[in-house]
Amino acid sequence: MYIGAHVNSSGGVWKAVGNGVDIGCEAIQIFAGSPRTWAPTVYKDKDAERFREACEDSPIRFVVIHTIFLINLASAREDFYEKSVTSLVGAVAAAEQLGADAIVTHVGSHQGAGFAAGLERVRAALLRALAESEGSDVRLLLENTAGAGGTMGVDFDELGALIAAAGAHPRLGLCLDTAHLFEAGFDLRTATGLDEALGRLDAACGLDRLGMLHLNDSKTPIGSNRDRHENIGEGEIGAEGFRAIVTSPALAGLPGILEVPGFDGEGPDALNVQRLRDLAAGAA
Ligand SMILES: [Zn+2]
Ligand SMILES: [Zn+2]
Repeated sequence: MYIGAHVNSSGGVWKAVGNGVDIGCEAIQIFAGSPRTWAPTVYKDKDAERFREACEDSPIRFVVIHTIFLINLASAREDFYEKSVTSLVGAVAAAEQLGADAIVTHVGSHQGAGFAAGLERVRAALLRALAESEGSDVRLLLENTAGAGGTMGVDFDELGALIAAAGAHPRLGLCLDTAHLFEAGFDLRTATGLDEALGRLDAACGLDRLGMLHLNDSKTPIGSNRDRHENIGEGEIGAEGFRAIVTSPALAGLPGILEVPGFDGEGPDALNVQRLRDLAAGAA
């Protein structure tokens, strides 16, 4: 696994590369523009170029854009749904500009309408986004949820159903967030628990759908359905759990992106990156 982090890209998207390198990343995740603004970001050519050049001259091997938090691909509200699909398509276009490998998105919530009703809307949204970005190599990774408020994709059967509904398109994949998985009831504290979860993933979706991980410890207990990220080794999953994750042969070669609060409260930092590296090397 190669270790990365969500990094700040304010003040010029190319600055994200240096921000990642500064804390020891080999992979970075960014928001394209403000995560709370609907309008899709279109980069100036020279800014996108500068980003690509910065990546080439760096150890960064994987770049992913996280879609905005407002997106709900299962929304029954027509205006909200349209804005969500437009935003998803815009994220793929921004990823193309930057030469990014993938986008990752939350699927959204059926808001009480039930999984089946939500599934139909998500299916149409994903097919539109894939069609409107036809010819692109950018993967669309769907993120698992902690399970609060009718959010779609809380377990591997739901994630498998989402992929199947969109015709098992080859560009569709998954991003597993370790905190969300644990909060949804999967025991990631031991290698045995991890292997069991990965076995279920393989059975329901196929392990090759897994495109990346979000490496976050959890502030809340197993099965809480409450999403609160914690620094690596400081939460309920703990160091042993992360040792199993970063040394798992099934996960080797995947990027693992930190979205932790950081030890100074300013987001992913060098110490969290180093903890993961030490666990991977067997030094901690
Ligand atoms: Zn996310
Ligand atoms: Zn989360």
